[in-house]
Amino acid sequence: MDTLFRGATLRSFTPGRPHTEQADILVTGSVVAEIAPPGGIAEAPGTRVVEAGGHLIMPGLINGHFHSPVNHLKGSLDSLPLEIFMLYESPGLPGLMPSPRFAYVRTMLAAAEMLKSGVTSVQDDAFFVPFPTPDVVDAVLQAYADSGMRARVALDQSDLPEIGKLPFLADLVPADLRARLAAPPEASAEALLDSYAHLISRWHGASEGRLMAAISCSAPQRVSDRYLGALDDLSKTHDLPFYVHILETRAQRVLGQLQGRSLVRNFAERGALSNRSNVIHAIWVDGDDLDLIAAAGATVAHNPISNLRLGSGVMPFRALRERGIPICLGTDEAIADDSVNMWSVAKMAGLIHNIGDPDYQRWPNAPEVLACLIGGGAHAMRQSGRIGALAPGMQADLIMLDLDTYPFTPLNDLDRQLVYCENGSSVRLTMVAGTIVMRDGMLTTIDERSLREQARALAAEQAGAEQTAREAAPWLPYYRSMYLRAAAADLRMDRTAQADDLRGGPQC
Ligand SMILES: [Zn+2]
Repeated sequence: MDTLFRGATLRSFTPGRPHTEQADILVTGSVVAEIAPPGGIAEAPGTRVVEAGGHLIMPGLINGHFHSPVNHLKGSLDSLPLEIFMLYESPGLPGLMPSPRFAYVRTMLAAAEMLKSGVTSVQDDAFFVPFPTPDVVDAVLQAYADSGMRARVALDQSDLPEIGKLPFLADLVPADLRARLAAPPEASAEALLDSYAHLISRWHGASEGRLMAAISCSAPQRVSDRYLGALDDLSKTHDLPFYVHILETRAQRVLGQLQGRSLVRNFAERGALSNRSNVIHAIWVDGDDLDLIAAAGATVAHNPISNLRLGSGVMPFRALRERGIPICLGTDEAIADDSVNMWSVAKMAGLIHNIGDPDYQRWPNAPEVLACLIGGGAHAMRQSGRIGALAPGMQADLIMLDLDTYPFTPLNDLDRQLVYCENGSSVRLTMVAGTIVMRDGMLTTIDERSLREQARALAAEQAGAEQTAREAAPWLPYYRSMYLRAAAADLRMDRTAQADDLRGGPQC
């Protein structure tokens, strides 16, 4: 059905168009067909008319980095450093192998939350414990298909044992635990490539192109040369974004130092850093790393809330921008940004860098945060020609916000109020590929009450916090030693906000 939005305030994010304009917008099929001054588009019979006076229409938000498999674990852990956190998050317990139904429901949980707050696209770097099976992969993709959301999905798996992924650990653990750390993962590189063959053949381009595959190696230190090369070939052949977590933590910087090259250089020298790369986090990078990323034309995925939740540090935003490195924004997973709300992420991206540089002229401003959020996300997805702006011929991925709400009252500066004031509560309509998937707070594609009931019932059947804590317990002393040793290593860089002179003072 065609849809005519009448009398909107349009923020199109299209170069050459006004910053904002009063406009009618006609959507035909999945695309924006026409934009004209109010009253400039004749209403054809059968067209659905949406009165958009007093409302803002803009492109949908893009969650540039996400992991759906822990959607049911929001709020389940205290803040912990990544290396400790992962012991609780994804232990290899047989009880954590999801049923297809559970994988479907948990994927749908965050899809619902994102669509309601105006996120129309997501890049899901989905990991599977202990390994992906076709029915579970299908369940994740089917959830995105049914939700109406636009999604790229990768399989984030490792083909190497744990022992080489972290510094010092091999020397710290006793022999019996070392044998477990040295055991290879259950799925071989061949098995993982079979899973990719299934993902790409069955789902890439499905739902009229709304669903797409992506490639993931998780991180350079987690994959063999052979598997990394095969993944890069797949990425190249199908022109798919390649997700790679690099230098999220100080311990990862230390690991690279011990190996004689940073993990960015590791990835580049193995031939995998390219303009298809989504370098996730890039916190503990140095100038050489950033030069390599810029020269390759890679995008960096910035996840400022997750980085705070896990105490990882602060990405050097301005240094990236100065080198022209494209940045997209992401929530990371729902266990590390527990709300899956891109408005919060944008606000954090707009604020956290202000404490990293005394020169206020180098702080992010609202338009560049929005550029990362929308255009940066589209670029990361390799979809710049289709989404991330509203113009004739572009996909109709758009949101309509009520301007008669507190975040916009009074309206002083639209971009600043989008970044610093709005929290998703003004979003009245979400459209993906020309289909209205949310209107006035109700999802049109999902029975939300039933979804929440199923999620509660299914989550109750999963391995509980006590079980994962029992599994983590024997490892904790050694991981803590490893973490503290990495924290004390001399790196001649800092990405934290430590107040050294206050340590040891009275506790309050
Ligand atoms: Zn991640």
